[in-house]
Amino acid sequence: MAKPKLALYWAASCGGCDVAVLDTNEKILDIANLCDIVFWPIAIDFKYHHVRAMEAKSIDLCLFNGAIRSTEQEEIAKLLREKSKVMVAFGACACFGGIPALANFASREAMMQRVYKEIPSNSNDDGTLPQVKTQVPEGELELPELFEDVMTLEQVVPVEYFVPGCPPPVDLIMKLVDLYSTGKLPPAGAVIASDKTLCDECKRIKEEKKVTRFYRPHEIIPDPEKCLLEQGIICCGPATRGGCGLRCIEANMPCRGCFGPPEGVADQGAKMLSAIASIYQGDDIETIKKMVEEVVDPAGTFYRFGMADSTLKRKRIRKSE
Ligand code: SF4
Ligand code: SF4
Ligand code: SF4
Repeated sequence: MAKPKLALYWAASCGGCDVAVLDTNEKILDIANLCDIVFWPIAIDFKYHHVRAMEAKSIDLCLFNGAIRSTEQEEIAKLLREKSKVMVAFGACACFGGIPALANFASREAMMQRVYKEIPSNSNDDGTLPQVKTQVPEGELELPELFEDVMTLEQVVPVEYFVPGCPPPVDLIMKLVDLYSTGKLPPAGAVIASDKTLCDECKRIKEEKKVTRFYRPHEIIPDPEKCLLEQGIICCGPATRGGCGLRCIEANMPCRGCFGPPEGVADQGAKMLSAIASIYQGDDIETIKKMVEEVVDPAGTFYRFGMADSTLKRKRIRKSE
């Protein structure tokens, strides 16, 4: 019997999600035994024209990591969608925008200015910016165009399943492979993780204590038995889906929210703000001002992985910015 065909692709991605697949170690052989890998730019030398030549829906499973930020990424997402029976948003960037979507706090122009002209380690005395089309003696060179906004995969093409995490943990990858190979995939739209919040899975002692100040992780050595949030460290467990195996919590570090919002929560950042408001001692204006000052980079803290998937999706940019 023919093996199912598997494709893996990276869009606006750091490559960590591809490495996570390789991190399955010897289990990668099980995956290779179960499937024929027909496209995987990081590991195998197939080209786009090979995918274009495939018949519609001839790929059985496509694991797509990374957000969508350029015309090339959009084009390949649509191409893989056309060729794939099952499309999986793989990792926090594909599911929610992830770290690349923090760029939605600036305009594209401001981001280009910062990256290519202002960063101190840059050497770009002419202030050259990448151009979509460049004339060279040999002809015209073309680069993909960046969109104004970073988008999730589902904002560009329909998606059947979501595997969260930055990157997804190995046991979740193997769970997906197992569900697929045994024909036990849940109904389309499911998130392959827990339905509970991370706090529901966390065994740390919760005393319903109020906090009087917030600390950054380097400012305090936390008690490893007690809830980090109740010790004044912003832990996104109340606003984050469980299923990661409590990776950060077991290392005595707070959760940053890479599994995205739990079931029924539309906006992870807003949910986290509400959790913070309910645990902070005092509700007068001076206390609230103090609390706001203690949270360094609130936007990046509460929307570290979920800006593209949030209610706002991006910061509104005035014409003058
Ligand atoms: S989810 Fe994390 S590991 Fe995966 S591409 Fe995005 S930043 Fe990298
Ligand atoms: S806030 Fe963090 S440390 Fe506290 S119970 Fe939730 S996951 Fe555990
Ligand atoms: S603890 Fe939070 S940030 Fe860490 S892996 Fe789990 S969901 Fe992601």
